[in-house]
Amino acid sequence: MSVDETVPVLIVGGGGSGLLASVVLADLGVESLLVERHPSTSRHPKAHILNARTMEVLAKHGLADEVYAAGSPPERSSAMVWLTSLGGDEPFDRKVLHRVDAYGGGALRERYAAASAYRHGNLGQLWLEPLLRRHAEERTPGGVRFHHELLDLTQDEAWVTARIRDRDTGRVYTVRALYVIGADGGKTVGAALGVRMAGTPTFSEWINLHVRSDFSAFLDHDDAVVNRVSALTGDGRFEHCGVVPMGPDSWGRSSREWTLMVTRSPGEAAALDDDAVVAGVRSTLKLPADHPMEVVSISRWPVEGTVADRFRVGRVFLVGDAAHRHPPSGALGLNTGMQDAHNLAWKLAAVLAGTAGPALLRSYEAERRPVAERVVRRALYSAFNQISMTAGTGVSPVGSPAWNRAQLTALFADTEDGETRRAILGEYFATNRITTEHLGLELGYDYADSPCVLPDGSAPPPRDPLGVDHHPSARPGHRLPHAWLRLGDERVHTHHLVRPGRFLLLAGAAGQGWVEAATAAGIDAYRVGPQPPSPTPPAEPPGSTPPAHGGDWSRLRGHDDDGAVLVRPDGVIAARAHRADAREGKSQWLDRALRVATGRTEPTTPTPEEGQQR
Ligand SMILES: Cc1cc2nc3c(=O)[nH]c(=O)nc-3n(C[C@H](O)[C@H](O)[C@H](O)COP(=O)(O)OP(=O)(O)OC[C@H]3O[C@@H](n4cnc5c(N)ncnc54)[C@H](O)[C@@H]3O)c2cc1C
Repeated sequence: MSVDETVPVLIVGGGGSGLLASVVLADLGVESLLVERHPSTSRHPKAHILNARTMEVLAKHGLADEVYAAGSPPERSSAMVWLTSLGGDEPFDRKVLHRVDAYGGGALRERYAAASAYRHGNLGQLWLEPLLRRHAEERTPGGVRFHHELLDLTQDEAWVTARIRDRDTGRVYTVRALYVIGADGGKTVGAALGVRMAGTPTFSEWINLHVRSDFSAFLDHDDAVVNRVSALTGDGRFEHCGVVPMGPDSWGRSSREWTLMVTRSPGEAAALDDDAVVAGVRSTLKLPADHPMEVVSISRWPVEGTVADRFRVGRVFLVGDAAHRHPPSGALGLNTGMQDAHNLAWKLAAVLAGTAGPALLRSYEAERRPVAERVVRRALYSAFNQISMTAGTGVSPVGSPAWNRAQLTALFADTEDGETRRAILGEYFATNRITTEHLGLELGYDYADSPCVLPDGSAPPPRDPLGVDHHPSARPGHRLPHAWLRLGDERVHTHHLVRPGRFLLLAGAAGQGWVEAATAAGIDAYRVGPQPPSPTPPAEPPGSTPPAHGGDWSRLRGHDDDGAVLVRPDGVIAARAHRADAREGKSQWLDRALRVATGRTEPTTPTPEEGQQR
């Protein structure tokens, strides 16, 4: 087959995962070609909550400030509120069933700020993707092609060969790439390679309406990132609808655009045309008949809970929805996809630059698949947990309309019984922190079992089975714990010191030798001592690097003053020396740790792909 173009990395799919991969690769000096079959980025708002880990990644590539500026201010996206309706005049209409601080907002702020320098962002994909696209295009002019579709691909031991159609002209051309990132949402690449999605197949369909409307008169609060309406209909059943402010220039109750979300069984959804969907949503929200609401678009999304049985086939890697798909509860889909892309990009860049061995690429699936499995399980628990919460109202799917109306009336009555019912309902709703407060899930995953992490024999930190509490740890394989450091006159945080594509060594106060060994190996390095007792730090011996100071870091690092941690370019601890070892010099330890972290140790049993590449 004749080849029209050759590129180191071909990215298939211009959603959040693919576009971020393009940006990160460009920042690491890797040329890539991204093809996206649609003429534009997403036409639907879709996912919007960006967690602290994603914001850390975006900050590393100079995107966080723009995302924060385009999205909602934190005080407009800090709670989740459950309501009985927007309109209506029954005794139980327009009531707040429950309100909770969510996604690092309100009373959660301090706990989240202790875990990361970056707060959650809130910006729908409709607005996020053009921002990512602009950055990708600026970094790789001509290398981001919308309305170009992957038709098929083949691979041998040296190359992947892809046929691509320019959908504007109809021209089909052939691209040869060393590696392919399948970021296509699972539409083409995985299936073409025989990858199977295992788990819970499609069990419901989400129907999202993107609307323009003024709902400010129906809402008394201004801080909800998500409102959820559970309305009792005329025939005494609960109908549910998410009401999500989407800005884009004013937020909270004065948002001009909204996503309204309903779920149906796949069979029911198929029987509903768009007019029926709109009428159903208006009725659930109990909107007055004359209340203006412009429907911009309606999207339908089959929801499953599945993980690909392989994240890699030869030279092709799957990221994002191509590798894992699950309900939106907990806002984990886009976040996990973008974090996949970040995990993979530095590895591809290092292998292409020759600073890492091909075995490093083996760690992508070893590290990201367990994360995806946990995320999918969590999203399913969260989705099904919604059922128990509304059951706590006493309204039953098998109750008579009269019974159900009586339950909801009693719930809001100003009586001792009403007070008790509301307290019990609060207990049900509190279980939803597994959806809105899961800091441990977002930041607490680890790659301790990765082949490219050097274990130090330490025990794992405690794990909160609910994923709510986060126990930061500098154990190899864990995310570099966040801590503020003083570097000369500057206050910086630990993740700030990690530069794209570069390893970082943080040594204890007595670690000048570590700094010298790391600097000789071309690694960024700092000594970090405890917070100095006085504004004037003690004089340092001549020729030594002045240490950074960080009280929290000294508590979190888990090594002695003459120990060190080696941090990967993606902000994950690769190795930790508890103290300087007299038998193995610092340079030797560092060399060994770097060999493991970059896949340059001989794998004991190479995979077929790696066998082919060497
Ligand atoms: C309709 C819909 C609504 C959603 N709503 C929500 C929501 O409300 N909340 C939430 O949390 N999550 C939602 N999600 C999920 C969330 O949007 C995804 O988790 C996220 O988009 C994953 O990003 P991605 O880049 O991995 O994949 P995608 O965003 O799916 O991007 C994949 C891209 O690949 C392109 N592509 C596919 N095949 C080819 C090919 N052969 N050649 C070139 N390009 C190709 C597609 O056109 C697409 O643009 C929704 C998803 C969908 C599909």
